[in-house]
Amino acid sequence: MSELYPDSDPYGVANALTSAERAPLLRLRGVLEARVKPVLAEHWEAGTFPPDVVAPLQELRLMHPPELADQTPSALYNGFRIFELARCDASIATFYTAQAGLFRTACRVGGSAEQFAEWDPKIQSFEMTGVFCLTEPEHGSDIAGGLATSARHEGDQWVIDGAKRWIGGALTAEILCIFARDEADSQVKAFLVPREADGVTLEKIHGKTALRIMQNAHITLSGVRVPESARLQNCNSFKDVAAMLRQMRSDVAWIAAGIQAGAYEAALR
Ligand SMILES: Cc1cc2nc3c(=O)[nH]c(=O)nc-3n(C[C@H](O)[C@H](O)[C@H](O)COP(=O)(O)OP(=O)(O)OC[C@H]3O[C@@H](n4cnc5c(N)ncnc54)[C@H](O)[C@@H]3O)c2cc1C
Repeated sequence: MSELYPDSDPYGVANALTSAERAPLLRLRGVLEARVKPVLAEHWEAGTFPPDVVAPLQELRLMHPPELADQTPSALYNGFRIFELARCDASIATFYTAQAGLFRTACRVGGSAEQFAEWDPKIQSFEMTGVFCLTEPEHGSDIAGGLATSARHEGDQWVIDGAKRWIGGALTAEILCIFARDEADSQVKAFLVPREADGVTLEKIHGKTALRIMQNAHITLSGVRVPESARLQNCNSFKDVAAMLRQMRSDVAWIAAGIQAGAYEAALR
């Protein structure tokens, strides 16, 4: 029997977690029960994100919790962190994973070692918040071939034009990781664009049902300028973007598993 999830982990997968790995998950569960669950229904109804849940979640330091200070958190721990969040609410899990999964992975895989070393402590502490902006109004599943946002190198700057759609968390994150096609070589590159940069416009997408409290944005980029230092140095083609996506996809499976566990436990109750 699973000690952490007696009703929803029939194979006892969570028993393979060490006690040091279980401790932050139990701290997370406490915050979800006390601070998140009570406000979910009200915000679902309004289609708004509960701002007061952000600080308690950030303070848990779940990406590298103090209990695991002397080790790299295991893939199993990372998975159950997402499972625990999604077992409470899919939007909250997606919000957290936009930072801890999508944005952090983009910086880790796409950034140079120096860039990631500089950014990662701030990403982990949420001092630097970011989102992953790949999908476009006209291109979703077919983004690999269709990506239309463009980047033009001018002096030591890049000029970005285009649009992104459905970007989760973009209305509040400070940095937009924008994927754009270099006009010179037609390859897809990635740029960390401040949300408040000149030429960036964001509109909230209304009327969602699924992931309703997660805020999604339509982003327009018009002559946005960033320096070369804002370009992820190891992202030089869509192959590199695919390498990021490969490392993120298991997070989505963990979210799906967490949602099912939460629904099953609710049905049992
Ligand atoms: C709540 C939410 C949050 C999101 N957050 C982000 C984010 O943070 N960053 C980001 O970049 N994107 C984000 N997205 C966008 C998401 O990644 C896209 O919705 C997804 O890639 C699918 O693209 P699409 O919506 O254009 O659907 P389409 O590509 O139009 O697909 C529609 C349907 O057709 C099917 N289909 C498509 N092509 C084929 C084919 N060749 N053969 C058979 N079936 C096919 C698909 O499986 C799907 O069922 C988010 C979307 C949502 C809804």
